Amino acid sequence: MACREESNAMSKGEPKYKRILLKLSGEALAGDSENSLDPETISNVAVQVKAVAEMGVEVALVIGGGNIFRGLAASAEGMDRVTADHMGMLATVINSLAFQDALERHSCEVRTMTAFPVHTIAEPFIRRRAIRHMEKGRVVILAAGTGNPYFSTDTAAALRANEISAEVIFKATKVDGVYDSDPETNPDAKLYETLTYQQVLADRLRVMDATAISLCRENNTPIMVFSIREKGNIMRAVLGEKVGTSVGP
Ligand code: UDP
Repeated sequence: MACREESNAMSKGEPKYKRILLKLSGEALAGDSENSLDPETISNVAVQVKAVAEMGVEVALVIGGGNIFRGLAASAEGMDRVTADHMGMLATVINSLAFQDALERHSCEVRTMTAFPVHTIAEPFIRRRAIRHMEKGRVVILAAGTGNPYFSTDTAAALRANEISAEVIFKATKVDGVYDSDPETNPDAKLYETLTYQQVLADRLRVMDATAISLCRENNTPIMVFSIREKGNIMRAVLGEKVGTSVGP
């Protein structure tokens, strides 16, 4: 059954967006666990995704792989960069399958589509087919990043958001927004409510990498950065409430 067919959620309010792209870092699936994947954390996020899908919001997800493998870190240790990035992209497929499983266990219909063929396991990413899935109320998980080395899943999120005409990118992380310095080491760190793409690039703020931000700037794609640890944040953002930091023109 497609998620929206079970809908009883309209009572929660009217969604501000019709189609969103949610970017989850790999670490968002690990929670506080020492393991790469924490089933309880994944299940909690899946419930939140299902809740917004049930409202009739079309949801595409891009999931990172940093909880399992990062190409840049491995290449710094001497591994061939392209091979390392291939491994990183495969890590995103593992995470995507874990999230697909969690959504299905909550009776939410979902399709995983990959940027390079893994055709015995998932569908290839075909833009029109992805849009069709969403129109039918299925959540789509866009796995394997951009399919190219030297990129990140943030860039994949910016790219796919534009390809599928998502109105906004929600970047759900472990921190509750963008700060002017590291809040873990500086108790006086200031949380930004709004930022421009230009400020993010000029001040090298850790929102998304520069390629992703440039792509969003060129296409005026709004980004909202907020914590995934706080339950209900995805719903609040969908309803147009102020959460975390907004990045725009
Ligand atoms: N990656 C890549 N091309 C892409 C997306 C990802 O090569 O288009 C690789 C890269 O090695 C990266 C890894 O996949 O380090 C995991 O992705 P990312 O670091 O973006 O994950 P996150 O930080 O969001 O968990």
